[in-house]
Amino acid sequence: MGWTWGDWASFRRARLWPGIATPTLTSRTAAACLLVGGLLVAFLTTLVPTSFHSVAVQYANAAVAAVVGVGVLLWGHRLQLWQFHLLVVMSTVQITVSVSQAAEATVAVSFATLYVFIATAGFFVPWWAAVFYVSLAAGSCMVALGVTSAAAWWAGVFAASTTVVIGFVIALLGRIVSGAELDTATGLPNRRGFERLLAMAISRAQSVGQRPALVLLSVDGWGAVRRQFGYRAGDEMLRAVVAAWREVIGRELVLARMVDDEFVVLAHNVTDQEAVALSHRMREAVPWDCSVGVTVWQPGESASDVLSRVDVALRRAKRVGRNRTMLESAGLPPIAVELREALAAGAIEVLYQPIVRLSAPETIVGIEALLRWAPESRPCVTLAEVIEVAENTRLIGALDRVVLRRACLDAQRMQARSPQQRLSLSVNVSGLELTEDGYAARVAEILTETGWPAHQLVLEVTETVLDADTPSSISALHELRARGVRIAIDDFGTGYSSLSRLHTIPTDYLKLEAAFTASMHDACSSKPLLRAIAALAEALDVAVIVEGIETAEQANVLGNLGFDLAQGYFFGIPQDYEAIAGSLAAQ
Ligand code: C2E
Ligand code: MG
Ligand code: MG
Repeated sequence: MGWTWGDWASFRRARLWPGIATPTLTSRTAAACLLVGGLLVAFLTTLVPTSFHSVAVQYANAAVAAVVGVGVLLWGHRLQLWQFHLLVVMSTVQITVSVSQAAEATVAVSFATLYVFIATAGFFVPWWAAVFYVSLAAGSCMVALGVTSAAAWWAGVFAASTTVVIGFVIALLGRIVSGAELDTATGLPNRRGFERLLAMAISRAQSVGQRPALVLLSVDGWGAVRRQFGYRAGDEMLRAVVAAWREVIGRELVLARMVDDEFVVLAHNVTDQEAVALSHRMREAVPWDCSVGVTVWQPGESASDVLSRVDVALRRAKRVGRNRTMLESAGLPPIAVELREALAAGAIEVLYQPIVRLSAPETIVGIEALLRWAPESRPCVTLAEVIEVAENTRLIGALDRVVLRRACLDAQRMQARSPQQRLSLSVNVSGLELTEDGYAARVAEILTETGWPAHQLVLEVTETVLDADTPSSISALHELRARGVRIAIDDFGTGYSSLSRLHTIPTDYLKLEAAFTASMHDACSSKPLLRAIAALAEALDVAVIVEGIETAEQANVLGNLGFDLAQGYFFGIPQDYEAIAGSLAAQ
């Protein structure tokens, strides 16, 4: 029945009627009572037709109950609360008519036992309604048995009292059982309650073609608050969080507390991007850091499948540094499938862009390996999109390793052709891959395997959505540096690459974002900023590589500002092995 669904999660209503009163359970119970009641009346009327004032009334009563019972069985899930009340009142009137039509005491008392069915309805409704049902049934029972001359006046007291006791016990048991599905601190459904609600949502999604999504949130600071200030403060904090989230998600979505600081939201029909956007709004709504996992149910999956996937997403979010959202998709998007095939087939290309000294731009001192791959289905896709897909589908590690191995082998051949100069090879690494266990060991393995010297490798930490300054990343970078590998912070000065990085990431190079170069001649020229960055780098003893130089003038100005290393179309576009090896051999 629709009324138990929408607001199930709200504290007030959860207290008013039992959460276990699901639409299916309610309508099936009502249908069973109506059908059995109708059949019993018809059976008794046929068995002892002379014991009634009017056989026709009894058969009509039985037929109405049976027809309504079938209707409720078929369409009960659409029933509204007021319609359910109406149904209960109608059934009470029908039983009363049947009892008062009885001409014999045995028959009248037998029919009066049907009032117990009315008492069972108290299980599915708020307390006030349960009391109303039981009072109506007991009162009608007293009146019906009292006015029929067939039974003694006290017969009504027995049947009515039994109805009252059974109604009370059933309503109470319903509340006790549903209380086991509520979290006492927040009043939200607990894990058990949520799992049942999720199973219901999935069975509904299967029939109407919806895609429920789960957003699993963990309030990162809760453990510390609880340890420092106790359980009461912890509960207060969670209540504040729930109130703030309710403002964001409204009353329609189910919010439940899974365990400790973990909450889950069930959204009925949203795309993964909408669910991710919802998670961002929820994180912004509270003053504490939150790690979030998001996933969308796929047809054929069970509740435990989706729950374990969203849990994996949350663990990933926590592992890579908390206070972020991680999406875990069930199926790989088409680009990822093609990328995986390309990786397996070795169909990934690597181009090399020269890095030069501004003081002697004709000499190439290093090269940056740049991945080139586009899916056949979308040849115009940008590299940034490819990397994002690879990161979201955990293909980034394999992709970066392929590029690193290829670049090391190519650089080895280039070095062999120009032994007189020491070539530096820069390779990009995603912040996400850095957080994976054993990253440093894998790099070392590739270096050993390809024979490329560690001190001639620069790893450029590039970032899209992830921080590279988690403890595991930092320790991997330190381990690599101890082996002689140098570290560059790529796209320095933009979004994720902030000044604080210089503090946390062991750094040898800063790669200055191309936008600084491009804006040198704008109205708000970046020259003063560039001057400051040059001074900062010098003070920190970090070399800067300026990116995106496209004109001689830019090269000139940057050289005068004190920058030494540069890269850009002006010095050379990204090119294939043959072209770059030719240039190196020629110099
Ligand atoms: P990035 O590491 O900052 O690489 C420099 C980007 O600027 C390259 O884009 C390059 O083609 C482009 N570029 C070079 N000179 C100029 C110039 O003068 N003007 C302009 N406008 N652009 C210039 P690309 O190749 O599309 O790569 C984009 C980004 O993709 C890279 O930025 C890097 O963050 C990432 N990437 C590339 N290869 C890999 C890889 O193997 N692994 C990972 N994780 N990321 C990679
Ligand atoms: Mg780079
Ligand atoms: Mg860059």
